[in-house]
Amino acid sequence: MPRFAAPTSPRAPRPRATREALCDALAHWLPRGLCQLCALPSRAPLCSACEERYLGASAARCPRCAARAPCGACMLAPPPFARTLTLGDYAPPLDRVIARLKFGAQPALGHWLGALLGQRWAAARLPRPDRVVAVPLSDARLRARGYNQAWEIARGLAATLRLHADATLLGRCRDTAAQSSLPRTQRADNVRGAFVVRGRARLARVLLVDDVMTSGCTLQAAAGALLRAGAAEVAVAVALRTPAPE
Ligand SMILES: [Zn+2]
Ligand SMILES: [Zn+2]
Repeated sequence: MPRFAAPTSPRAPRPRATREALCDALAHWLPRGLCQLCALPSRAPLCSACEERYLGASAARCPRCAARAPCGACMLAPPPFARTLTLGDYAPPLDRVIARLKFGAQPALGHWLGALLGQRWAAARLPRPDRVVAVPLSDARLRARGYNQAWEIARGLAATLRLHADATLLGRCRDTAAQSSLPRTQRADNVRGAFVVRGRARLARVLLVDDVMTSGCTLQAAAGALLRAGAAEVAVAVALRTPAPE
């Protein structure tokens, strides 16, 4: 039985005080006092040594898609988003953090990852967005999980940058198969036309947030919908980036 199934979904925004109280309560569900990776004592989900080792800004990355540099893909076919920020590689052992965020009923991990992304965004002096939005889940997956992990990251990021996370601007107009269940060649078709913009995006600089970028097809489809709705620019922040296959 999931330990948490509270509806922190973007579809049902709660009053601010209630949301903050819920966030505080959620923090108690984390196994406090132990690093999620090495199990040494730590106040944060990762101890400072693991954060430095696995989330340190060491690797040279493509500014456009955050793949390890040099990135031939963006030279051949640049994605519609202007830049991508990430914290590290979606690979062992960090993939365990994402698994706990998505399947371990630990949405507070998303808030923590979002806060780190917000700190890095500010430290890199990247252009300040007008709107922060999360890649939406399908209704069925949102009901099953009880929360959208990308929304939890977006909220942490927006709070750190003192911005408003917009829960309604970007929606899904149809259900799609999980991208991870498909070969890369079918992923673009799977999400084409899956997103709809339900609010005013005209001339806005939008920061689009997700937990992981692998092929980039989901983020490209969502960014395309925002740009077609008139957004001036779309940038991307993902907690982790899947390394390109060898
Ligand atoms: Zn550790
Ligand atoms: Zn690239």
